[in-house]
Amino acid sequence: MNNKESIAVMGAGIVGATTAFYLSAAGYNVSIYDESTGQATSAAAGIICPWLSQRRNKQWYQLVATGAAFYPTLMHDLNEDLTSSSIYRQAGTLIFKKSPELLSKLEKLALKRRELAPEIGELTVLSPTEIKAKLPLLETSQSALFASGGARVDGSLLTKKLLNMAISNGAKYFNEKAELTITDKEFYSLSTSKQTKQYSTVILAVGAWLPEVLEPLGFSVDIRPQKGQLVYLEVEQETQDWPVVMPNGEIDIIPFPNGRIVVGATHENNEGYDLSVTEEKLDLMLKDAAHFAPDLTQATFKEARVGTRAFTSDFLPFFGEIPDSPNLYVASGLGSSGLTSGPIIARILTQLIMGEKTDLPISDYPVDRYIKKNNLLKPIKTRNN
Ligand SMILES: Cc1cc2nc3c(=O)[nH]c(=O)nc-3n(C[C@H](O)[C@H](O)[C@H](O)COP(=O)(O)OP(=O)(O)OC[C@H]3O[C@@H](n4cnc5c(N)ncnc54)[C@H](O)[C@@H]3O)c2cc1C
Repeated sequence: MNNKESIAVMGAGIVGATTAFYLSAAGYNVSIYDESTGQATSAAAGIICPWLSQRRNKQWYQLVATGAAFYPTLMHDLNEDLTSSSIYRQAGTLIFKKSPELLSKLEKLALKRRELAPEIGELTVLSPTEIKAKLPLLETSQSALFASGGARVDGSLLTKKLLNMAISNGAKYFNEKAELTITDKEFYSLSTSKQTKQYSTVILAVGAWLPEVLEPLGFSVDIRPQKGQLVYLEVEQETQDWPVVMPNGEIDIIPFPNGRIVVGATHENNEGYDLSVTEEKLDLMLKDAAHFAPDLTQATFKEARVGTRAFTSDFLPFFGEIPDSPNLYVASGLGSSGLTSGPIIARILTQLIMGEKTDLPISDYPVDRYIKKNNLLKPIKTRNN
């Protein structure tokens, strides 16, 4: 098994870590490079509930719906028990709308989508009393739609598990920034402050940092960063079975086991790669959350996290081989739903590398729409918003 070709995975967020896990499990020699600063995956809120989005793009919906359906397989492959895993749990999602009419419209959409996506699970409109029984912190006079298949995932725990499994499969992990150079047609070099190594295949899973990696090599890259901040609180109740709450508005409330509750997140388009915590933004989110769950004002503040999402100009992700660069693979632009789509994107990249049939047609997510080779080998200015 161990004489399979050597593959480097650059970036170990959800895409890179899942790719490394499946390739190492298939016997490839995998090296993982990750700088980890600003990583979106470990700062993410953790909502897996794509079916009720109002977004109309079919390719995007197909990707996130397939991604949500793939989670139980991923958990099985990681030997995680679906009923007790602290990484991923289908505790359901509660969705609020501005008016009873909009709620009933949402219910109709959900029932229609369930015909092709049974993973949505049971759909029930819950009264304020039924809502309180499911999540005692919530104080509301509104009804909400409950989708039992909605899930939460702890991005940080998930990538740790994927990386540990990859390492136990023989993968090497370098916690360092790497620089890519294209040495000749058969090999790519990755350099860190300590070493330079050559690989026959490289996967660029660097999220929002793709322009920094490819532009010095003469590519232009349609990716811009978006800053996201969120807050971790702690309450004294047991929160393991509480559903995710998606109130009408910017913020969501995501309960994790052992009293942990995440409130977030911001979507800041003009901050570039900034990772500073801004207290006013956190206060605003907490105020919004207290509107639905007044007792959250008594919760203990644990920490704030900041991550950088990657967006393309048409908000669609892309993945596959970079044209005219054989065995140089890429995935980016996962935006606000990358915890949902990341694992299936990674799985598809590994299927491409192994020459297997892909779970979705990759022509729906074309790389050449977002990455173009320039004639001049000059770095191109990064967009600043
Ligand atoms: C606040 C917030 C909340 C979110 N909530 C949700 C949610 O509820 N549901 C959902 O589905 N999605 C959510 N997302 C989106 C999701 O987190 C991302 O789309 C997804 O994690 C992107 O994964 P990735 O692997 O592409 O990139 P990342 O997770 O950003 O990983 C890229 C990695 O590459 C590393 N890297 C970059 N350059 C180099 C280099 N030169 N050398 C080595 N390493 C390098 C980075 O340090 C980083 O670790 C959220 C995102 C944020 C920020």
